[in-house]
Parts: sequence; structure tokens; C-alpha cells
Amino acid sequence: MPALSLDKIATNQLRGVGPQLAKRLQKLGLRNLQDLLFHLPLRYVDRTQITPISSLQPLTEVVLEGQIKTSEVVFGRRRSLLCKLQDNSGTAVLRFFHFSRAQQERLKPGVRLRCFGEVRRGRFGLELYHPEYQHIDGNNAASLEKTLTPIYPTTEGITQVRIRDLCTQALEHLNRHGISELLPEQLKQQIGGALSYSLIDALQLIHSPPPGTELHRLARGEHPAQQRLAAEELIAHNLSLLKLRQKVQRQQAPILVENKAALNSLLEQLPFELTAAQQRVAADIQADISKNIPMLRLIQGDVGSGKTVIAAMAALQAIANGKQAALMAPTEILAEQHRMNFEQWFQPMDIRIAWLTGKVKGKAREMQLETIANGSAQMVIGTHALFQESVQFKDLGLSIIDEQHRFGVHQRLALRNKGFGCDDSQKDATAPHQLIMTATPIPRTLAMSAYADLDCSVIDQLPPGRTPVKTAVLSNLRRNDIIQRVRASCADGRQAYWVCTLIEESDVLEAQAAEVTANELQLMLPELSIGLVHGRIKPREKLAVMDAFKSAEINLLVATTVIEVGVDVPNASLMIIENAERLGLSQLHQLRGRVGRGAIQSHCVLLYSHPISANGSARLKIMRETTDGFAIAEKDLELRGPGELLGTRQTGDMQLQIADLQRDAQLLPQIKQAAESLLNHHPNNVSALIDRWLGSSEQYAQA
Ligand code: ADP
Ligand code: MG
Repeated sequence: MPALSLDKIATNQLRGVGPQLAKRLQKLGLRNLQDLLFHLPLRYVDRTQITPISSLQPLTEVVLEGQIKTSEVVFGRRRSLLCKLQDNSGTAVLRFFHFSRAQQERLKPGVRLRCFGEVRRGRFGLELYHPEYQHIDGNNAASLEKTLTPIYPTTEGITQVRIRDLCTQALEHLNRHGISELLPEQLKQQIGGALSYSLIDALQLIHSPPPGTELHRLARGEHPAQQRLAAEELIAHNLSLLKLRQKVQRQQAPILVENKAALNSLLEQLPFELTAAQQRVAADIQADISKNIPMLRLIQGDVGSGKTVIAAMAALQAIANGKQAALMAPTEILAEQHRMNFEQWFQPMDIRIAWLTGKVKGKAREMQLETIANGSAQMVIGTHALFQESVQFKDLGLSIIDEQHRFGVHQRLALRNKGFGCDDSQKDATAPHQLIMTATPIPRTLAMSAYADLDCSVIDQLPPGRTPVKTAVLSNLRRNDIIQRVRASCADGRQAYWVCTLIEESDVLEAQAAEVTANELQLMLPELSIGLVHGRIKPREKLAVMDAFKSAEINLLVATTVIEVGVDVPNASLMIIENAERLGLSQLHQLRGRVGRGAIQSHCVLLYSHPISANGSARLKIMRETTDGFAIAEKDLELRGPGELLGTRQTGDMQLQIADLQRDAQLLPQIKQAAESLLNHHPNNVSALIDRWLGSSEQYAQA
């Protein structure tokens, strides 16, 4: 049979699919049979066998069969119909909150039922709420399902039954026409493991697992069939990033020859020597930018490892070569800090700096845009406002993104594609070199996958003379003791942070909580000058408070997690974090990094609300035991998964259907190898694979 490509058969070719359903399917991204086959079940239920009532387990979904013994309406908080169902092993209760008179009539003692539902622990033993049920008599013992029943992700107007039917039809086509194995045989053998399963068998099993397939393995995504697909999916993601890399690197970048004189005049100003790690990373960058291929490099460096000066060194090389450099930070506060540093370093060298954030408006904005466009600004610093189309550079040689994890893949791409002159329509345009800096250490395996398009350098050393922060974990019942500690510390001329956190993702509530705390602390510590920053304070005011804290006019800064990144006040040596158990380890690590920036011993107090869960307590214990950002990130990955670590935006972008970066971490090295091999030896399979797994999702379509 000629291979009829399943992605060429539209869903409307299937039985029962009219224009309306086809439209709904499109909402789920399902346009053709291949899409359907790669629309994977969320979970499965077992309707292939009848479970004896005596072996019911709470929170499992089961098929039961038995006879109704009693049937009565009970009036509790809610009226409900209770039927006791008995088989030859025991009794269970069926409970209906909504029922009609006719239904009640039919559910009378003596009737035999087969039902399906979730078992819960109820007041009368094990109960099934609103089970699906079916009357049975001698003649109609309906047959059980032949396979485990998949439950699919779906949308309004498409029932499980419907989507199951469509997937079954797609499977029939699959068996008739086959599907192209996009992973070459040789590669599969070479990599072995997960890839040895055939794609057809894997799809077959996943859409219709035979009875006896281990549900618990399926539930954990550990079945070899799932692993086969997970591996392919990860390869596809990796490829999409590698393609992006290729695309960028096909463009010309300006060769930035090292200008030693300029570099020396920067380094001579610094009150310190670069650490060995900083020197190594600076050399990596210099090697990259001396080539005419765009640099794509990620610098990972723990909080306080000294990334800013590395950025300045790179920017300086662009400027010394007559190009512009841009630095983008995720928040106003951070951008402002960079501006202050760069002004201090660059103004003596007569380098002109432009400043652009969302808050720069009207005439001022026009002026900044003008200097950026005519090239009189050599260094441009700002927030994501730099993304906007109205921002045109005269001749951008280097773009630097600070704290990249906050931006996510999408925005990274926007920076590449928009406004930064590396758009395909301008064929001869040169592309800038790109430097991305992150303070969230990312475990190597994860970085390999999430940043396959970037080269990585790590600043794995802190500047000398820092004293590691001592961390204590205390119940909030000891809050008053802590307040006294703040008093003592400030009386000694030190400064402190008090960080308020909330579970709700609400700016307003968080701001309120911080205000309440600031007022309360002021009452208890009348001799201190207390400042307040949170997300709802105007940027200008926020900067004023930060400045006052920097110059030690403010002793105690009450803040929400807005101070998470980048704030640099070496005299602050005490940090209190309330409800620390609510935050991720990496976030706590970032916060804690605000202290311990000078030679004095710093302390961090993690307050938790009493009582604390075992997991919460285990996590805070890790914070007490180590200050190594990478070790903390590894633990965070273990305890919370990659979503939390990379930020929701980022994993939202990754949209993995079946793979799980944490569970499948052991696959990642092979995945990387496979992706590279495909790109080099089987380029024709690459776009088909990307299309199969990532569809035409916009960002990758640009690849
Ligand atoms: P981060 O990597 O968190 O962005 P910064 O660049 O803000 O760190 O640096 C933190 C502090 O350390 C700054 O005050 C900076 O001037 C200082 N610093 C950077 N490099 C060194 C070094 N090699 N020796 C001493 N201090 C340094
Ligand atoms: Mg920084």
C-alpha cells in the first residue's frame, strides 16, 4: 500500500466529523490524523474487568457488579439516594445527589447493576458518587471493554466518547497506512533503550492498552511505549532549538576584535581583581565575538558571582569596535541598577548611554529612540521596552539579557527576531551577538534540553572575602524574638530586609500584607527608619526608597519578593523571610543572595507558619545546610520539578505532551546526541519531526 501520509488526511475525512466538530478539534490543535495520534491520553481507567467489592481501594476507578439490597432516600445536609450494592464478596454504597423519581424507581432492591466510578471513603464505608451504571439481566450481560480506556484532554463540545472514537478511527488508518519512522534505524540502534520500541506499536499501545498493561506504569509515564514517544518528543524539541541556533548562526555577525586598551581602562577602575571564573567566562565570550558568527551564549552565575562586570566587558568590546550594545533587565529596579553601574564605569570613558523603559514616555522617549536610531547612543540599557518595534538600532553588535529565566524562550526569540535587526527579510543584515545571563543555576541535564540553542559558561566561584550567610529556620511563633534581633542588628549600624510572601498570586494582597507588616514593625521598632517596596509602588518612589536604603538612610527594608533579583546593598546583613515554606528553593536562594555581600557575617532567618509539613520542613532544611546555588537547584528540581525551576512561562513554552524533563532526565544525554546526529545526517527528517510534535506553534514556525 502506498504510504499515505497521515498528516495529509484531515479530520473531516473521519466518520462523524462535520464542519462544526472539525472546528472544535482545531481548537485542540487537531487538524489531521497525525495530530490525533499524537494527542495523547492524560490517564487511563480500567473497565476491562469487574472488581470484587471486597477488594475495592479508595481513590481508584472500578467496574462493580452486584445486586441492590436496599435503596433509600436520606436527608442529611443534602438529600441523596443511597443504594447498597452487594456481590458475593461484600457491599458498597452508591450515592446519588441528583436523581429523578423514575431513576429511583429503577434502582430498587433486587435489581442487578454494573457500575463504574471512583471509590471514596464515605460515612457508610466505601462509596461511589454518581457512578455510571447499567441494568443487567440474564440476556444482556454487556461485554466489558477490551482495552484500558484512555481519557483524553478535550474541550467544550467534544465528549470523551467522541474523541475516543476519533482516535480509534485514526488507529485504523495507522494500521492500514503505517506512519513514517522519522528516526533512522541506525540511530535507534545506536541509542537503543527507549527508542527500540517501534512507533506504531507505541501509538497502538498508548491509545488502546491491552488488559493487563500496568496502569501504575502508564500513570507515571514509565511504560516503554510512552518512553519511546517521550524520547521522540524531546528530540523534536531539541531539534527545534538547534534549528533556531542554525538559523541565527547562518547570519553574519560583526567581528569584535579585542581592544585591550579599552578593556584595561575599565578594569583599572574596578576596586577588585576578576576571579579566575570571571576571567574564564570573559575569555569564552571574547572567543565567540571574535568570529563572524553570532554568539549565542548563556552565562550561569550564582547570585553575587559578578556577572555585571562581565556584561560590561563584552559591551565595551562592541563599543570599541564601533557598534552599539544593548542590555535588557526584567525589572525597572534591575535596569536602574545596571544603569548606575554602567554610568559609573562608562562615563569616564566618554561612552554615551541611552535609557529606555516603559516609564520613559513622550518627548524623553522620542529623544532616547532617536539616539538609539542614529547611533549616538553606544550603550542602551532598559527593560523589555527594548523589544518594541519602534526601537530601531543603528548598528547593534551585542545584545545582553540579564536574568533570562524570567523572560522565557518566547521573549528570547522576540529579542532575536524583532527590533534587533536579525529578521530574515533583511537578507544581508548582520545579526548581533547574544549574551544571556541567569542567576538561577540550572542543573546540567535540564540546561541541555531547555537551552539546546545556547552555549553555556558557568561562573562557578564567588568573589573572595564573602562570608557565607548563616541560615536559621524558625517558627513564626518566635516572631517577637526576631524583631528584637532586627533591632540589635540595626543598632549596630547594619541594615536588614524583611520579606513578606503570600500564597495568592495577587499584587494587591501582597502589597497590603507588606504594608501591614511595615506598620506593625514601625510600631514595635519606633527608633528605626523603615522603607517599603512592593509591586504596586510607583517606580519613581521605589527607586527613591532603594536609593535611601543604599545610602543607609533606611535601616530596615520591608519588601515583597520584588527584591528577589539583583539588589546590591553590601551593608545589609540580616534577612528575614516570612512564610518561607511557601517559596521555591531557588527563589529563597535568590532572596538570601541579597545579604552576605560584604565581609561581615550575614544571617538569614526563614520563618515558617506553624505547623509545617514534612516536605516544607525538608526543603527549609536544605536552605540551612547549603549556600551552593547548584546544589539547591538540583534539590529544587527533585522536590518541585522543572516547571517551577524554569518558571511557568518557560515550561509553558516548552509544552511537553508526554515527556517530563525530570522523570526522563536520564534520556537527555542520548536525546542531545540523537538530535545532533539527525541535524547533521538526516536533515530531511528534521522539519517533519518538529512539525509532528510542535505542530505549527508560532515560535517554532519561525525556525
Ligand atoms: P550578579 O552575578 O549577582 O549579577 P553582581 O555583578 O551584581 O553579581 O556583583 C555583585 C557584587 O560583587 C558587586 O558589588 C560587584 O561589584 C562585586 N564584584 C564583582 N566581581 C568581583 C570580584 N572579582 N571581586 C570582588 N567583588 C566583585
Ligand atoms: Mg545581576
